[in-house]
Amino acid sequence: MTDTCPNCLERGITPIASRRRGQHLAHGYRCPRCNHQWAVGRLPTAYPTHTETRKAA
Ligand SMILES: [Zn+2]
Repeated sequence: MTDTCPNCLERGITPIASRRRGQHLAHGYRCPRCNHQWAVGRLPTAYPTHTETRKAA
């Protein structure tokens, strides 16, 4: 699951870490271009376009 950097919009960034808590899967990312770090949590079921929560690290 790749993501786009929210800071410089670099695309196709792969997660450097992931952890699962029950149904909740969270990925940590670090942008190779601007070194921005962030985390994305996804729920695997329902509303695929409305389940993302973003938080700058
Ligand atoms: Zn970036």
